[in-house]
Amino acid sequence: MSREKEHLRCLILGSGPAGYTAAIYAARADLKPVLYQGLQPGGQPTITTDVENFPGYPDGVQGPEMMEDFRKQAERFETDIRWGTASKVDLSIRPFKVIIDEDKEILAKTLIIATGASARWLGLESEEKFKGSGVSACATCDGFFYKGQDVAVVGGGDTACEEALYLSKLCNKVYLVHRRDNLRASKFMQHRVFETKNIEIVWDHIPREISGDKAVTGVILENVKTKKPKKLVIQGFFVAIGHVPNSDIVKGQLEMNENGYIITRPKSTQTSVKGVFADGDVQAPVFRQSVTAAGTGCMAAIEAERFLSGPEN
Ligand code: NDP
Repeated sequence: MSREKEHLRCLILGSGPAGYTAAIYAARADLKPVLYQGLQPGGQPTITTDVENFPGYPDGVQGPEMMEDFRKQAERFETDIRWGTASKVDLSIRPFKVIIDEDKEILAKTLIIATGASARWLGLESEEKFKGSGVSACATCDGFFYKGQDVAVVGGGDTACEEALYLSKLCNKVYLVHRRDNLRASKFMQHRVFETKNIEIVWDHIPREISGDKAVTGVILENVKTKKPKKLVIQGFFVAIGHVPNSDIVKGQLEMNENGYIITRPKSTQTSVKGVFADGDVQAPVFRQSVTAAGTGCMAAIEAERFLSGPEN
C-alpha cells in the first residue's frame, strides 16, 4: 500500500495540556511541530467541568474552555494541529516512522508522546449519566464542589486512599467503598485512612447504581458475599479504580513500568530511545495534574530542540 509521506522535525501525539504545551514551546523554537490530537481532542480536562486550580485563571475555567485556550495559544505560533490518531509507530529506525490512521506515513526526527492516561470506570449506565455532574475521577479537580457534603470513593488502592484523604479535609463524611476486606494501598496510606475520623470504609461492597434526578443523591451498593443491597446517601461519587496509560502504541519499543507507564530519565522526558520524549500522564502515574503535565510538555520541547541541535543531527 503506497502512503502519503511527510518529513518532520518534531511530531507530537496528544492534545491535552502536555501535548499543547510541548507544541507552544516547540513552535516558538522553530521546530515546526505537527500535533495529532488523538481520540480525545483536548485530553482529560475536557471531561471535567470547573477547573479552579490551574494558575492564570483567577475565577476558574471550564475544562473544555481551558483546552480551547491551550489550542489557540499553540495555533498562534503556527503549530500545525490535525485531526488523527497514530495507528502504528516504528522506533527502530531513524527518522521514526509513524502511521496516522493507516493512510499517512510520517518520518519524524523527534517524537513527543503526550497520549495521556484514561481513568478506569466501573461501566455503569448511571455512572455515565452523572459524569461531570456528581460523578468524577479526580478529587483534586472536583472535590471542592462537595465542601461540607457526603461523598463516596470507590477503590482500595493508593489513588482511592489519596482521594479519600483529600476529600476528608473538605467534606463532612467520606465513604471508601472497596470490593474486598483489605486494602491494596501501601501500609502508610492505609494507616492514614484508618486514622481519619470522617472516613468510613465500606468493605466487601461494589456499586450497582448511582441514584438521583439531575444531581447525585445516593448510591446503591451490593455486598459481594451476602448479595444484600445497601444504600448510601451522598452527593458526590468518585471513581478511583486505577488509570490506564495510553501507551499501547509503543509497547515493546520503549521501557515501561509494570503498569504500562513510559519510563523517562530522572528530571527529564527522555525515554529509552534517543529522540523520543514522553510527557504528561503517560509517564507520570503520581501527580496527574494539568499543571504538572504542562510542565513536562515544556521540558519535552526543550529537550527535543536540544537533541535536534546536537551532533547526531
Ligand atoms: P491500583 O490498581 O493499585 O488499585 C485499583 C483499586 O481499584 C484496587 O483496590 C482494585 O481492587 C479496585 N478496583 C479495580 N477495578 C475495580 C472494579 N471494577 N470495581 C471495584 N473496584 C475495582 O490503582 P491505583 O490508581 O490506586 O494505583 C496505581 C499505581 O500508582 C500503584 O502502583 C500505586 O501504588 C501508585 N500510586 C502511588 C501514589 C503515591 O505514591 N502517592 C498515589 C497513587 C497511585 P482490588 O484491590 O480488589 O484489586
